[in-house]
Amino acid sequence: MAIHKEYEILDRISDAFFAVDNEWNITYFNHEAERLLNKIKSEVLHKYLWDAFPEAINQEVYRQYHKAVNEQVPVFFEMYWPPRNMWYNVRAFPSMNGLSVFFQNITEQKDLATKREEHYKSLFHNNPDAVFSFDLEGNYLSVNPAMEQLMGYTEAEFTNMNWNPLVIEDEVEKVNSYFRKAATGETQHYETKVAHKDGSIKHVKVTNMPIIVQGQIVGVYGTARDVTIEKETEKLLLESEKLTAVGQLAASIAHEIRNPLTSVKGFLQLMKQSTGESNETYLTILSDEVSRIELITGELLVLAKPQAQDFQVADVGKIMKDVIALISSQALMYSVDIQYKFGELPKLKCIKNQLKQAFINILKNAIEAMPNGGNIHITVNHENDRIVAIIQDEGVGIPEEILSKIGSPFYTTKEKGTGLGMMTTVKIVQTHHGTFEITNTSNKGTSIKITLPTNLEAVEDLIL
Ligand code: ADP
Ligand code: MG
Repeated sequence: MAIHKEYEILDRISDAFFAVDNEWNITYFNHEAERLLNKIKSEVLHKYLWDAFPEAINQEVYRQYHKAVNEQVPVFFEMYWPPRNMWYNVRAFPSMNGLSVFFQNITEQKDLATKREEHYKSLFHNNPDAVFSFDLEGNYLSVNPAMEQLMGYTEAEFTNMNWNPLVIEDEVEKVNSYFRKAATGETQHYETKVAHKDGSIKHVKVTNMPIIVQGQIVGVYGTARDVTIEKETEKLLLESEKLTAVGQLAASIAHEIRNPLTSVKGFLQLMKQSTGESNETYLTILSDEVSRIELITGELLVLAKPQAQDFQVADVGKIMKDVIALISSQALMYSVDIQYKFGELPKLKCIKNQLKQAFINILKNAIEAMPNGGNIHITVNHENDRIVAIIQDEGVGIPEEILSKIGSPFYTTKEKGTGLGMMTTVKIVQTHHGTFEITNTSNKGTSIKITLPTNLEAVEDLIL
């Protein structure tokens, strides 16, 4: 009777409970068991367990109970029971008399877990980015359809693979170091190149992050986005930009050569008409002009590294005067008056032809900025070991927002401009370790200030 008392208690516990004897005959079946298994106690009591529940034969539950009995060990497991569409959490304890089984309905928790899992699975499965996971050795564990599409392999093929052969050879070392870092817990973002199954190369943007389960890093997740098209467009753009640049450079070179050629032609004409004594001046200017052409054709010298012998002692005032003489015919044509005032100037170690070119570029812009004529004021002075040249015009000025762009190659607002004049000028000034400043004057013109150090000897070593 003691046994029965015990069973009465078991009737009231919230767990489902049943017991079988050594012959698998059911000796007890509590209320909760009736409810969960949808059987009435009288129906199953004293029945052979496997007759009462034939659906269980040879299933996991069948194996577990036999294990408990044969090995005399308790077993704990979760099982799905199709007749009731339920999940149970089972604990079975063997004893001398048979087997006692306790179980609970865990269907709700299971559903929730499944739902949650499905949520994640959906994120994985339907992600437009390729998503994949690796074990810590870099073997694929799973890949999503976007990954299959990106690389051309099926998930089954992937899971027999390591990432290694998919990354192009030059990139393996780099990718390996990112993978290692991700495997130690640091998320990594990088770009690399991979080979599609068909042999084509793809540019991908990859993220690698650790998979952390219960505080332990167990693998690495990856996402990849195909950026091949972006990369190719970028390359094409760069190439076409280069071509345009070459075209513009050619135009500018032609343009820069045409100017001195025009003045050579002009002076030759003048010499033809004039008497012998003024020819001396013309000849000097002519030879200077010819050497300027030589310079430009040689290469855009300013863009190359200057040579030591290029630096010579010269008079900046004289250089400026030559330039003014040179440009005066053009100034006259546009009714532009050039006024200049020079202070006492020391000789300067410089590349004479380059300074000349810089002054020409500035004066030409000034004239072009005054299509209806005006004045250009030039001052050149000696201030604290520097020669300071200021060229001011009364032209259209430069809008504030584009001021910072002046001097970048090919930036022009003129229909037939090359946008190389100011770039070249800035470069020349830099070569001379000087400073270049372009500002708007209060009366709407433009002012350019150039300063050149006179003690270039001291900095010469730096340049060459
Ligand atoms: P380009 O003369 O071929 O346009 P530059 O490099 O010489 O090329 O000049 C670049 C641009 O700077 C010009 O197109 C013009 O917009 C602006 N600029 C330069 N100097 C002046 C100036 N004195 N007055 C107004 N704008 C100027
Ligand atoms: Mg110009």
